[in-house]
Amino acid sequence: MKKYDTPLLDELEKGPWPSFVTEMKKAGQKNEMANDAVGHLEKCFKTRIGYWKHGGIVGVLGYGGGVIGRYSEIGDEFPGVAHFHTVRLNQPSGFFYTTKALREICDIWDKYGSGLTNMHGSTGDIVLLGTNTAALEPIFAEYSSRGWDLGGSGSDLRTPSCCVGPGRCEWANYDTLDVIYNLTQEYQDELHRPMFAYKFKIKAAGCACDCVASLARADMSIIGTWKGDIQIDQAEVKNYAANGMDINSEIVGMCPTECMSYDGGELKIDNANCKRCMHCITKMTKALQPGAERGATICIGSKAPIVVGSLLSWVVVPFIKLEPPYTELKELIRKIWDWWDDNAKPRERIGEVIEMKGMRSFLEAIGIDPQPQQIKEPRKDPFMFYTDEDIAKFKANEAEEKKTGVYKF
Ligand code: SF4
Ligand code: SF4
Repeated sequence: MKKYDTPLLDELEKGPWPSFVTEMKKAGQKNEMANDAVGHLEKCFKTRIGYWKHGGIVGVLGYGGGVIGRYSEIGDEFPGVAHFHTVRLNQPSGFFYTTKALREICDIWDKYGSGLTNMHGSTGDIVLLGTNTAALEPIFAEYSSRGWDLGGSGSDLRTPSCCVGPGRCEWANYDTLDVIYNLTQEYQDELHRPMFAYKFKIKAAGCACDCVASLARADMSIIGTWKGDIQIDQAEVKNYAANGMDINSEIVGMCPTECMSYDGGELKIDNANCKRCMHCITKMTKALQPGAERGATICIGSKAPIVVGSLLSWVVVPFIKLEPPYTELKELIRKIWDWWDDNAKPRERIGEVIEMKGMRSFLEAIGIDPQPQQIKEPRKDPFMFYTDEDIAKFKANEAEEKKTGVYKF
């Protein structure tokens, strides 16, 4: 195995944190491709040139996505990375693995690829870094015979992903694992055969803590929430106070809408003004729980800054019940894709098209009524212009909600 001098990469091994360079070098001791990837990267740093050629259509029979072609312009000098394709494997919902499954993934990858992995890519897939064209079909045959499948790439539905949800987390307002598994099965065609203007990502978070950062990274963010009052156990509130928690500064004072009050006795919440941000619930886990009627908010449009600037998702559906077989959600997704398909130019994400065509025409096309929660950014007016009559109706609803304790959102 050729030994490369890597003074520049060595700098990235200094300090107390883990280093990808150290891991690449370890893999390089037993794998020619990984070893050449180290030498290649050092040369890129030294000359300040990226030698990777993106492109060339590579893949496996019957699939349009799942493999990203990579070639080096200096493959003669570094034959191990002359082809260095990336293979994406669809991760399990919530990233739950057995050690047996992880060993299986790594053993197959050691056999055909560089041995380098990225667990997980920002979409969520298991990313297997670096193999050659001839190995693609055998890799796919081995993985698929053991129940694994490729993930999305290119202009298709990217592999849906979710937080650990009810598998490990008491705050999940719906079963994120089941929703994502169900959507992945439903949209196999869209996932494997690129047919869109550009990529479409779906991420499911069980609550507003949003551990998968869906609000910033998914064209469709499904974020768990609830209707009605936060459930308060006043005895536990007392325990927190007795154990030294300064409830007024740590909880009440941090509530973004100032809808909480605490007089040293009872903790009170003006639930009509609660934004379901989860702050108080995550700090006082024993005393506070989400309301009993649970579901999700659907937000649309976030993306990273390719083509035009980055976007966060906007609320489109303030509350949706999420129960199998998720018919309402699936119908909504189909309508969203139809409108996007009719209106997008190549490489336009749905958020960009909504910005261009307007939220009004988007909502009309997907059959969702304008609602006050559909705002462009926090503390701004809604997208819609409301008449005095509409406002009178909202006020009457609000008064009714306060009276009955039943919140329509
Ligand atoms: Fe738990 Fe919420 Fe994080 Fe999901 S997003 S893991 S429900 S805290
Ligand atoms: Fe305030 Fe957030 Fe708690 Fe609602 S969830 S009461 S907005 S801290």
